Amino acid sequence: MVLGNYKQAVAARSTDPDILRKSQDGGIVTQLFAYALDAGIIDGAIVAGQSDEPFKPEPMVATTREELLAARGTRYSISPNMSLIKEVTRSYGLDKVGVVGTPCQMQALRKGQLYPVGLRDVADKIALAVGIFCMENFPYQGILQLVEDHGATALENVSKLDIGKGKFWIYTERGATVQLPLKVTHKYEQPGCHVCLDYVANLADISTGSVGTPDGWSTVFVRSAKGDDIWAKAIAAGAFETKPIDSVKPGLELVTKLATEKITKNQKYLESRATEYGVGKALRNPYI
Ligand SMILES: Cc1cc2nc3c(=O)[nH]c(=O)nc-3n(C[C@H](O)[C@H](O)[C@H](O)COP(=O)(O)OP(=O)(O)OC[C@H]3O[C@@H](n4cnc5c(N)ncnc54)[C@H](O)[C@@H]3O)c2cc1C
Ligand code: SF4
Repeated sequence: MVLGNYKQAVAARSTDPDILRKSQDGGIVTQLFAYALDAGIIDGAIVAGQSDEPFKPEPMVATTREELLAARGTRYSISPNMSLIKEVTRSYGLDKVGVVGTPCQMQALRKGQLYPVGLRDVADKIALAVGIFCMENFPYQGILQLVEDHGATALENVSKLDIGKGKFWIYTERGATVQLPLKVTHKYEQPGCHVCLDYVANLADISTGSVGTPDGWSTVFVRSAKGDDIWAKAIAAGAFETKPIDSVKPGLELVTKLATEKITKNQKYLESRATEYGVGKALRNPYI
């Protein structure tokens, strides 16, 4: 069950060239929200917008197609999207909310819906939760440093960052590409991610990532009844081109392998922490 429950898995990409142009992969997130906005399924979405600093995400509420498109692409550092979850229904007055987030953010969202302490009236207003796959994340300072140390450039000269095919990719505005083995990037990661046991956003209505499908396409898991209904309507409206997941390479086999690796590695780390710090043992100070 490393891939969680899902009703269907497909390879897909947006049919809208404008969305595809600057999206990270197949433009699934932006296309889903743009379709849902048009169809009246949502009246806005919490996304990770672009702040004044390059590749630094800033949570924002997008209520127009233009705002959704401006937030396309992945920013590899923490965007506290859940911080707007109350605000979006109060100050912004939205009744049908879309939200995108990493697997941990989907967990926070569902916890908030189950135990809506301080979130009265919010739980029922979540109309579409889109999760993105996530192996690890980086503090913003870590991304800055990583690009400076190994990309031989500053972050403001970078057009795209990507993790794929076992490498960290830096694409510069001037057309250069730097590829780094992931063992180089590990030390810049956010340590909190090493206890995380979800790779594919099991709790989202629909979750998506690049792994498993060819460049420019995405792997999509349609998980909940709500997700299934919205996905079927989006397909009927021509929003996506799809292929059966078992017709593309490398397919679900690679997604399963990476999910298993993440969970096994982090489970081991969790167990080592439990042994080191307590559960059934006297606390030991490693420095004395
Ligand atoms: C930290 C991180 C690690 C990832 N690791 C993997 C991985 O190991 N394997 C894999 O297949 N995919 C991974 N992804 C997902 C992948 O990079 C794409 O985000 C995903 O495939 C969606 O692409 P798209 O073309 O459908 O989205 P687009 O249409 O380009 O839209 C992307 C959406 O994601 C939002 N977003 C961008 N950055 C963040 C962020 N930091 N936090 C929350 N929301 C954000 C944007 O606001 C936008 O709405 C990761 C993403 C992040 C943020
Ligand atoms: S690795 Fe886990 S904890 Fe870290 S950002 Fe991704 S989903 Fe969240």
